This record gives sequence, C-alpha cells and structure tokens, in this order.
Amino acid sequence: MITVDSLNFKNERALIRVDFNVPLDKSTFQVTDETRIKSAIPTIQKVLKDGGSVVLMSHLGRPKGTKEKKYSLAHTISTIEKHLGQKIKFVDDCISSEAFDQSSSLKSGEVLLLENLRFYAEEEKGDKSFAEKLARHGTIYINDAFGTAHRSHASTTIVASFFAKNKKCFGYLMAKEVENLRKILNHPEKPFTAIVGGAKVSDKIKVLEALLKVADNIIIGGAMAFTFVKAQGGNPGKSLCEDDYIETVLNFLNQVEIKKSKEIKNIRVFLPIDAVCATEFADTSNKCIYPINNIPSDWMGLDIGPKSINLFKDVIASSKSILWNGPMGVFEFSNFEEGTKQIAYAVAETTKNYHAFSVIGGGDSVAAINKFHLGEQVSFISTGGGAMLEFIENGSLPGIDAIERDIVL
Ligand code: AMP
Repeated sequence: MITVDSLNFKNERALIRVDFNVPLDKSTFQVTDETRIKSAIPTIQKVLKDGGSVVLMSHLGRPKGTKEKKYSLAHTISTIEKHLGQKIKFVDDCISSEAFDQSSSLKSGEVLLLENLRFYAEEEKGDKSFAEKLARHGTIYINDAFGTAHRSHASTTIVASFFAKNKKCFGYLMAKEVENLRKILNHPEKPFTAIVGGAKVSDKIKVLEALLKVADNIIIGGAMAFTFVKAQGGNPGKSLCEDDYIETVLNFLNQVEIKKSKEIKNIRVFLPIDAVCATEFADTSNKCIYPINNIPSDWMGLDIGPKSINLFKDVIASSKSILWNGPMGVFEFSNFEEGTKQIAYAVAETTKNYHAFSVIGGGDSVAAINKFHLGEQVSFISTGGGAMLEFIENGSLPGIDAIERDIVL
C-alpha cells in the first residue's frame, strides 16, 4: 500500500483531502469537537518535515453548492493552527485565481487551507473539470478522508486521476482504515464473528450478504432483528419492524442454508432469544422481558434480553476476529443500554484475554463503545460509518481504487 511514508515530499506541494467536517457551535461557530482536525495533523506534519508544503481541502456541512458563511472553513483555522503549532494561510475560494496564486507561491513548510469544496455543486457531482482545477494545487495528492472515500466526488476520487501512480498516496488515517478493514475482511483469523445491529435491516442487508462470504458467525441484534422474528412467524409486538423486507430476510436465511449444505461451511446466524420491552419509546417506560418471538401487541423490544446476552457472549468469547457495526438496542436510554454494554465488554475482554482482533465501526457503535469507556480496549475503531459499510459490501471504495489504480487523464 502506498502511504505518505512511501514518498519524500521535499520541494513537493501536497494536496491533501482531509475531513474537516467538524461540528460547530451554532452562534459562535467555534469547533466543538476537534477530533477530526487533531487526527489529520500527523499526515500534514510528515509532508512539512520532509521539506514540502501543504494545500488542505475539505468539505464542511451541506451547503449544496452555494457560499454560506456558517459553512466556511475559516471557522477551523485557529483549531488547525493550535494543533499544528504554526500559522496557516487561508483562501476564501478553492478554485479562484487567487487560490492558484496562493498555492503556487507556497514555500516549503507553509500550509494553505482552501475554502469549503461544497460551495461548488461540481464537488459532489464528481465534475471532471472541477477536479482538474483542484489537481493544479498540488504536485502530489494525498487522500486522508476515509469518511468520504465511498463517494465519487471530485476531491475524493476524480482528482486522483490527474496524478500518476507514484504521485498519489494514502495519508496515515486512511491507510490505517484500509489496512485494518482488509485484514479483517480478507484474511481474518478464524473463527470470525460479525455482530450487526442498529435500527433498520434495509440499511444492513447488503452488509449481511457480504458477510456471509467471510464470517463464521453472524450475530444480529438491535431493532433489525425483529424483521427476522416476524419473517420466521414470531410476533414482535409493536417493535420496529420492516414488513416490506420480510421476503429479503427470508431469502438471506435461505442463502445461509444453501451455503451450509453446498459449501459444507458451518456458518451460524444468531438471533436474540429474548428482549427487554417497553410500552413507550422512552427511557422512563415500564420494562418487561419477553421471549423475542412472543411480544404482546402493546409492547416493543428496545434491547436484547439476558438470555440473548449470554448466548452472544459465548459466541464472541470463542472468536479470533470480531467485526461490530450497530448497537443491540436503544443504548442511548440508560434503562435499555445493558445489551449493547455487555456486548461491548465481551468484545473488549475477548480482544484482551484471547488476543482477538476487533474492529468497531459505524457512528452509533463507536458512540456506544465510547459511552462505556472501552474505546482503548478494542483493536481498531473505524471513523467512517457509511464508508465502512460500503467497504464491507464491495470490498473496496472509489476513493481507495482511485489511489491504487494507474489511470491518468
Ligand atoms: P444504525 O444507525 O442503523 O446503526 O441504528 C442505530 C440506532 O438504532 C440507535 O440510535 C438505536 O437507538 C437504534 N435501535 C437499536 N435497537 C433498537 C430497537 N430495538 N428499537 C428502536 N431503535 C433501536
């Protein structure tokens, strides 16, 4: 894999696609979570240390092709300077003649930040001529924005076509993501257990189908389990359920059976046995545990129950590779967090005690693992929710292919 460590940036101008899509305070426009900016610093520093200069480009929010002050990357300047430990330059447009004047006159050691790419609709359209203009800012292109690598946008994918294969690479953040996801999906140590949860089976069915090819165990939790319950003739009460996905779910379960018989692959799918149920979708609702396939019509399942926790924990404890996306229940409610919490502990313990390799991804699973302060105890946390799901589905992403393939327009 070609990373920033494979190249020397002396006298080069690195055009880096970073992810500075950070949350801002609504009235002061101050950055309220600096994680993304902090994480981009090592790649920038590597270029500067080599004696190169840096042009940073990113999107911020969803301005939909028009200039809006609230989405200006100018709001991020002081945070970047704080973490980088030096002043940076800023230009209020990403392809104006002033922008090109500024980037072409950068001296080694200097950093220029371009204004929000999404002030141009061409960015999200993946417009070639817009991408070609962006490419003029650098002699080497670095992609360090994994969270948008599943989009064929101008700055994340198309721009790479204007650089020769030895003039483009992954930044540290992106390289780590690609390396860890390839490790678990392409060469997992067995048994490999995938845990998939969250709200909607419609969002995750393609992921489940892709996992059928590589996983030994698939654990299904969260609200999405109720569509499986109904498909198998159970009664999920008033739990979240996608009736129009019942056929799809049956087809998935059928594929599991076919795999088992034809490939003699002992793939196992685990569904919850019981659920912690509520009468209202509220943390304060009264609670009762019901068998997963027999929930009264005025109750809804908001978490997996204790029998399910024990079953899932046993499967996790016997795994050597674990991939987790999506919570087991409404973990945001403290009365319905137990299932997700116990699974998080099981993943952390198996990682520590049995040297399993664990990868957690997707916004809500990351929020969950951090809520229980277990972020440091898993092998890798992926920062890209949608990007990670698409990577599992397709085995790669447009932004990754664009770096690794040799096409120059
Ligand atoms: P996703 O973005 O698809 O991973 O879904 C995450 C969301 O699913 C979280 O906000 C959870 O609160 C929600 N969720 C998980 N289990 C349930 C459930 N049993 N009922 C309703 N929502 C759920």
